[in-house]
Amino acid sequence: MQYQEKAGLIKTKKEDESMYLQDIFGLDGKVAVVTGGGRGIGQVIACGLAKAGAEVVVISRSGAEETVRMIEKDGGKSYDLRADVTDEPQVEQALASILERSGTIDILFNNAGICMHQSTMEATVEEFRQVVDTNLTGEFIMARAVGRIMIERGIKGSIINMASMSGTIVNIPQWQCSYNASKAGVIHLTKSLAVEWAQYGIRVNSLSPGYIATPMSVDLSPQELIDAWIPLMPLGRMGKPEELIPPVLYLASDASGYTTGSDLIVDGAYSCQ
Ligand code: NDP
Repeated sequence: MQYQEKAGLIKTKKEDESMYLQDIFGLDGKVAVVTGGGRGIGQVIACGLAKAGAEVVVISRSGAEETVRMIEKDGGKSYDLRADVTDEPQVEQALASILERSGTIDILFNNAGICMHQSTMEATVEEFRQVVDTNLTGEFIMARAVGRIMIERGIKGSIINMASMSGTIVNIPQWQCSYNASKAGVIHLTKSLAVEWAQYGIRVNSLSPGYIATPMSVDLSPQELIDAWIPLMPLGRMGKPEELIPPVLYLASDASGYTTGSDLIVDGAYSCQ
């Protein structure tokens, strides 16, 4: 294919093999770190990454023994560590113990987050700071610490930052300006890191789900609110956390070799309206 050579591209042997498309999504031998994996989306994604072959380290403040048990029951490898993603020394300590125990970090699913529903006039500055500190600064602290390890060790890894469709649209009828602003920040932080770290072969993308049924979105919301959301959804239902596994596997694996700086919106067309 002369046109590829003209562009300075070399086709690898693997790309020529017939099994290429079947194993390109696989994560055998990789070590993945999942923050906020004790419940909700993080728990389901941790199990999905393990099923694809990765050893999965789950980080949260209150522990993730249940997630580890679920992974081990399916024959996967996992352990959990306690750390607050807003606390840089705690994050550094957790990552040092991962390097000691697992030897590397190839994938970060930077997922820990919180949400507060309140009108802008009701919210205190402290509450605004708490949401931004967890969702944006926490993801920055994690991404930078993992990015540093990848750069120092020449690891061509993948970082997936959890954003939200709320980084693009404004949800109704609940007010949540701190959350929306934090997720818009995550999307642009992602693009900034993707460009800055492309020279090291590190890919950085964000995932922006719509409403996904989890403890955050369902347990903490009154039924009237959930009833108000459903008619606004083109698919007529919330998403399941399991429906985020294939998009995350795409971003985590070699399948997305030319995808970096993207915001992958998985919201059942909610944000198209
Ligand atoms: P959950 O509340 O169910 O889970 C959040 C997880 O984050 C928990 O494991 C929690 O554990 C952990 N966490 C929270 N704060 C910290 C912290 N400071 N340090 C370490 N871990 C922390 O939320 P979801 O699963 O619903 O959401 C996960 C992510 O997906 C969030 O970033 C959220 O904004 C995003 N998202 C969710 C959507 C939804 O509809 N559910 C839609 C779009 C995006 P612990 O409290 O033990 O630390």
